[in-house]
Amino acid sequence: MHRILQDKSLFRPHCLINGLWCDAADKSVIEVTNPANGKLLGHVPNCGEAEARHAVESAHAAFEVWQAKSPQERGAYLHAWEQAIHANLEDLARLLTLEEGKPLAEARAEILQGASYFPWYAEEARRVSGEVVPTFRHGTQALTRHAPLGVAAAITPWNFPMSMIPRKVAPALAAGCTAIVKPAGATPYSALALAELAVRVGIPAGVFNVITGNAGAIGAVITSSPLVRKLSFTGSTPVGRKLAAQCGPTLKRVSLELGGNAPFIVFDDADLDQAAAMAMGNKFRNAGQTCICANRFLVHKDVLDAFVRRLLHGIRGLHVGDGLKADTTMGPLIDAGAVAHVDALVRDAQEKGACRVTGGQPHSLGGNFYEPTLLTGLRPEMRIFREEIFGPVAAVMSFESEEEAIALANDTEYGLASYVCTRDMARVWRLWQGLHFGMVGINDAALASAETPFGGVKGSGLGREGGREGLLEYMETHYALLGGLTQA
Ligand code: ADP
Repeated sequence: MHRILQDKSLFRPHCLINGLWCDAADKSVIEVTNPANGKLLGHVPNCGEAEARHAVESAHAAFEVWQAKSPQERGAYLHAWEQAIHANLEDLARLLTLEEGKPLAEARAEILQGASYFPWYAEEARRVSGEVVPTFRHGTQALTRHAPLGVAAAITPWNFPMSMIPRKVAPALAAGCTAIVKPAGATPYSALALAELAVRVGIPAGVFNVITGNAGAIGAVITSSPLVRKLSFTGSTPVGRKLAAQCGPTLKRVSLELGGNAPFIVFDDADLDQAAAMAMGNKFRNAGQTCICANRFLVHKDVLDAFVRRLLHGIRGLHVGDGLKADTTMGPLIDAGAVAHVDALVRDAQEKGACRVTGGQPHSLGGNFYEPTLLTGLRPEMRIFREEIFGPVAAVMSFESEEEAIALANDTEYGLASYVCTRDMARVWRLWQGLHFGMVGINDAALASAETPFGGVKGSGLGREGGREGLLEYMETHYALLGGLTQA
């Protein structure tokens, strides 16, 4: 790790609590490995309940001072944080690739996207105005204002640490909340590098804390503490349900960004070259380990063969390897469990009649690498139709009518992203209304941005990240009634 970074202090093997770098009280640690070769990258503290309580108390103590600052003052810190990320882009990208596996170009793009949440929310917080509500009773005036919730906790997954953490922390801090981040055990160094930059730009002690270690123990403290007023979680649906239930007794605000099962619908009037290029970027980015990856390709029967040919051509152009190598366009999966999961879905689909066009097994590179895979003959009874793949497998089926496509697309417990390729604008409108998903990408799959509300419905979660909506997730509306205003 040290050899690869120019600025070695971005590699931080300690937690940041109350502005101080610290270890677990009992000095226990957890290992972090490189998914491309299984080599040990280093250790991070294996913190538990005591350290989590300390982080909560620190964030709570810092809240009074932080929320009293003006939005401009808080925004200045966020602008500086963004600048620090830009100034260290190459080191941060290498760090992210080393612990997560994605190709360097994807790592850079993720970091820049993550950084863009800081200026957006720094400025957006200046525009959160209250209202003077039209009078409903003579002699009164009603007013509203938006106030920060308090301590906000973020529990984040391993697949996009450099964008997920800013996406939660930028609106939290801009709103006036203080934050505690519990990153995933597989990718803690990205979070800790962000913490190092936060310290460098002078973000006050306790305002941004990062704690690594025992997820269950830390999660139990965060969810049960009455001092924590907000939990923002991104991860699997079962863990999201469990954490939301744990937040019940203290009635805290909860945002959940959970699993997806995105349909990717290609109509017979679509620009097939554009649709295939969009499919490649969406499906194989991060080796298919994104919650908005196309999970089910639904293609009109008249263009099925033409679309599959184009997808196959795209897949043959992928270069699988270590993300640090310049020519790599697809890296490894995160761990052996991920490989086994993807392989089991592919086996199940083949046993139930799916046809393998290419790939379909662990890659000859070994370790956590899996072949980019294309299957046709997808059917609703297959696990791959129902479950999130989280791997580089494109599974395709055909449909005959728009109604059938919508019914197939909605036949899932999830409702995060969906995609439609068509040139018919009336159909676009019908699809947007008919698809039960929080987001739809029409002839474009790059959904996430600082400006737009990202999130799902049904089993994909609650709340929105990004956009105006993302800031209000960290604020509550206070109402004041002024009476006795009639002149005597
Ligand atoms: P993924 O499959 O992306 O790892 P998880 O839902 O397992 O999804 O993990 C997402 C985040 O939730 C990680 O930071 C993980 O450590 C954390 N996590 C997992 N289980 C718990 C739990 N019981 N309590 C709190 N956090 C948890």
